[in-house]
Amino acid sequence: MKRIWEVLYSSFGNKCPRCHNGEVFKYNNPYNLKHFDEMNTECPCCGEIFERETGFYYGAMYVSYAWMAGWFIVTYTFNSMFIGADLLNYLLFFFISILILSPMTFRVSRITWLNFFVKYKPDKANCKKMAH
Ligand SMILES: [Zn+2]
Repeated sequence: MKRIWEVLYSSFGNKCPRCHNGEVFKYNNPYNLKHFDEMNTECPCCGEIFERETGFYYGAMYVSYAWMAGWFIVTYTFNSMFIGADLLNYLLFFFISILILSPMTFRVSRITWLNFFVKYKPDKANCKKMAH
């Protein structure tokens, strides 16, 4: 269970999965559309390599489907229970929301994918530069 929170913290906070301190993407704002996909090649804090072998991030596509399926289930349930919009309106909302969220989905999926391979090691968060 603790592991799930670690993954969510890292994925949504743009934090290195190993030290939870350095940033994975260079710019924190996913809606900085010119630069939203620029990643650090390695963690500025613990040195974990983010740019792994070529094609590594293809797997993030599947994570992205999973996040979208989750988003679908949550919004569909919410609509059925509280709003009651008809299917066409709901689907319209769903696709527009997916479009608007896509820069975020892209980043969250990549970091979640990275989390499958890299585990949180609190003792690695010892960089001086970012110590709070
Ligand atoms: Zn790190």
